[in-house]
Amino acid sequence: MKRENDMGMSGQNNVIEKMKKAAGAMRSDLTRIRRELHRHPELGMELPETHEIISRELRKIPGLQVYEHRAGGSGIIAVMRGGKGAGKTVLMRADIDALPIEEKTDRGYRSMNPGRMHACGHDGHAAWLIGAAKLLSLTREEWGGCIKFVFQPGEEIGKGADILIGEDKVLEDPPVDMAFAAHGWPSIESGRIGIARRCAFGCVGSFRVKITGQKGHASWPEQTVDPIAAANEIYQYIPAILARKIGGTASKVMSVTYMQAGDPKVRNIIPAACEFGGTMRAAKKETLEIMGRELKKETEAVCRVYGASWEVDVRTHGGAVENAPGLLEGVRNAAAEVLGREQVYIIEEDNLGGENFAEYSSRVPSVYMFIGIKPADQQEAPGLHSPQYRFDDQILAGAAGTFAAIGYYGCMGMLERA
Ligand SMILES: [Zn+2]
Ligand SMILES: [Zn+2]
Repeated sequence: MKRENDMGMSGQNNVIEKMKKAAGAMRSDLTRIRRELHRHPELGMELPETHEIISRELRKIPGLQVYEHRAGGSGIIAVMRGGKGAGKTVLMRADIDALPIEEKTDRGYRSMNPGRMHACGHDGHAAWLIGAAKLLSLTREEWGGCIKFVFQPGEEIGKGADILIGEDKVLEDPPVDMAFAAHGWPSIESGRIGIARRCAFGCVGSFRVKITGQKGHASWPEQTVDPIAAANEIYQYIPAILARKIGGTASKVMSVTYMQAGDPKVRNIIPAACEFGGTMRAAKKETLEIMGRELKKETEAVCRVYGASWEVDVRTHGGAVENAPGLLEGVRNAAAEVLGREQVYIIEEDNLGGENFAEYSSRVPSVYMFIGIKPADQQEAPGLHSPQYRFDDQILAGAAGTFAAIGYYGCMGMLERA
């Protein structure tokens, strides 16, 4: 973003001031919307009530074209064009699905759908994006370009974005120049925003190894091919894949999350098969590929020695969410203008969680932010996907203002590093 004296910045600051003031007045309204969504959590791609609540709120906003029933039914794309004519096209995305979790809070607005809960705070994501649309509508005559507000189902199951991009062509007509999204983050204090320097979310993969040996009596192991012994050797080798096949500076993790063999009631038989599997994450796709390849090589080598047969299934579920270096400072400045300079900071470590936003960020320059939701008077907030999870409604106005400021500067071509 350009600073004062550059293109008459005083006028632009007025726009942000106007947004901040309006955002402050919007607090109770955004809280109402967030809590209504919270009462109606729905799963995956089928979110009829969520779709209705969000569409109803969007239809109230002047200057917004609302395209309902996208992403196969429950997604919404809302488009706003600024009054100043030409400019950039900015996409802002909120995920809107909930989780198969029974809510265990005493809130008056807790989930009305048994076994379902907004335990990842996507209700808050939808509310702050509706708020941003309202703020950009209020200031529509002050900016040019186009903003696409995308409400995406299916994030928790790794779907939604692919349909919005492939079928609904959300990145086209007009072509999107840059995309933004954020997640409410329980370890960050309310009022603060963290932005990852590089990797906001990692590439996600999973693996499954099945070893088939020769079943037999445990007293004569030499007459068997023991799949547990072979699996154990492969398991032991996993730290060596990470430490000796991949450079020390690459972010990566590989965790075995299940291992199954034999029958606890039968202690004297070496079983025929052993299977284990787990998850693998890395900041770079190439790293994930090395992990999969080395696991296959090791499995093959060990099984040959033992005389066992093997099956290895390695899958990659999604790319990384990498923040665009050229947009980082601009976004930081825009957020700082709304929240205060000391409230916005850069996170140097890579985060290896997974996010379906990778579908957008792998195609257009993007920035993903972590918005604090831990009230200042609390030592610790319940984590994401916890039955006790709680979203701090106090942050909604600031988050809406931040997205609006990013949308404004983005459209005006003032976010990119000069
Ligand atoms: Zn989640
Ligand atoms: Zn989430």
